[in-house]
Amino acid sequence: MECVMPSMANSQPLGKVCVLGLGRTGFGVVEYLIQHMPDRVESIHLYGGARSVPNEQTARFEGQGVHVTCGTDEIEGEYDLAIVSPGIPPRSAFFLSAKAHAKDLVGEPEFAWRESPNRWVGITGTNGKTTSTLLTAEIMNTGGVKAEAVGNIGVVATGEIADRPEDMWFVAELSSFQLATSLQLHPRVACLLNLTPDHIEWHGTLEEYAEAKGQMFRNLDDEDLAVVSVDDSWCRKVADKLEARGLRVCRVSVHGVPESYSAAFVRKGRLVVRLDGKEHKLVLGESLSLEGAHNMFNALVASAVALELGVTVEAVCHALMTFAPLEHRIEPCGTWQDVRFINDSKATNVDSVEKALASFSPGKIVVLLGGHDKGTELDSLAHEVSARCYAAVCYGEAGARIAEAIREADANMGLTVVEEPHMAEAFSRAVELARPGDVVLLSPACSSFDEFGSFQERGNAFKDLVKELGALKEAK
Ligand code: ADP
Repeated sequence: MECVMPSMANSQPLGKVCVLGLGRTGFGVVEYLIQHMPDRVESIHLYGGARSVPNEQTARFEGQGVHVTCGTDEIEGEYDLAIVSPGIPPRSAFFLSAKAHAKDLVGEPEFAWRESPNRWVGITGTNGKTTSTLLTAEIMNTGGVKAEAVGNIGVVATGEIADRPEDMWFVAELSSFQLATSLQLHPRVACLLNLTPDHIEWHGTLEEYAEAKGQMFRNLDDEDLAVVSVDDSWCRKVADKLEARGLRVCRVSVHGVPESYSAAFVRKGRLVVRLDGKEHKLVLGESLSLEGAHNMFNALVASAVALELGVTVEAVCHALMTFAPLEHRIEPCGTWQDVRFINDSKATNVDSVEKALASFSPGKIVVLLGGHDKGTELDSLAHEVSARCYAAVCYGEAGARIAEAIREADANMGLTVVEEPHMAEAFSRAVELARPGDVVLLSPACSSFDEFGSFQERGNAFKDLVKELGALKEAK
């Protein structure tokens, strides 16, 4: 379908700009703004927040004329525009102070979109964003449609604008944090993967969280495509609302075959995408390079986007069969005495753990659960663990609460549930418990901050333990 694009890059004056946050996003935005001084940008003020301290990078910026303030949440002066990094909650004093001192306040992806609004794909959801974003970009590039994965995956979109060729698509992974501060963002294709309780600490309620995710569809018009799951009730409601607005909606399901004009589903084991009534038959689910039904879902979404943007069925199928599994997401990391070790450190919430448990044979899983306690409701997780695992080793700050919930759910079903203080002891215990043919699965349902700096650090620590054991890497 032909789509009308707005002009390639913005040339409007930005005036006095303040940037909040000293992370990768804040630095990327400041680098970009410096390139536009003085013609479009009158001044740049970088605020680090109450706990920030100056560093080499801020000193370098000061040398380039940027004002830097660290150690306070108080914004001073008046600004035309404030650009906020994603880790800063809208209810925080820092955020509210910026709002009071700026005519306009936006998140970084919104700013990037305003600067370079052509050819955007947006992908959001509670789980599967990174996998779907990278898979979409991979399929598009395989099919000769240039694409770069940006956004929450760790590539600041604003930093990529200067070198962006005119025909390059941005496939943006957008978190609810980033969407909560977006107003004009208007992707050509917008995808919603799923909505389950997570980050309630940050957003307040599930309704507010769902509303932030819904922001992505706000500006879609009838040339665009919304790709939306109908496998959970929250997303189904979003799909219905978008259809009621007269938009083109591709309904995605791994459990059923939606009847709609556009849909993506699995029929007789084969992935199928139907766009505007025309069916594209893709590969069999078993030929996918990624394991698990949830990855079949991610593959349907990525394929629907790529087909909509002109990639051929052949190229889609080739990319689906060859895409390499991502680190820390159901990542096979070795076998020892016929026990497989799987690193799913990125599983920081209940839904992603349930998907991981469903990817392996029931009764043959020794799962490692624990970490920073986000206060998540544990009933459904505890029942899934009881139904699918041979043993559960719980550790860290949340270990006792998780163990308690599992014992309660398991009643007298005979699941082994043990507690250990840290991940390393939990790992040794899991190795003792595992029998030949079992899987030792790190899929912790918690963030890592009680013991590690990030989920990557936790996953790497797990892989080091597997290596120390003398495990051999799998051929796959
Ligand atoms: P995100 O970027 O949204 O955190 P990732 O692709 O990094 O998503 O995956 C995070 C976790 O969620 C991993 O444990 C992964 O196995 C699991 N996961 C991936 N896709 C899905 C999905 N569609 N539904 C539920 N869980 C998923």
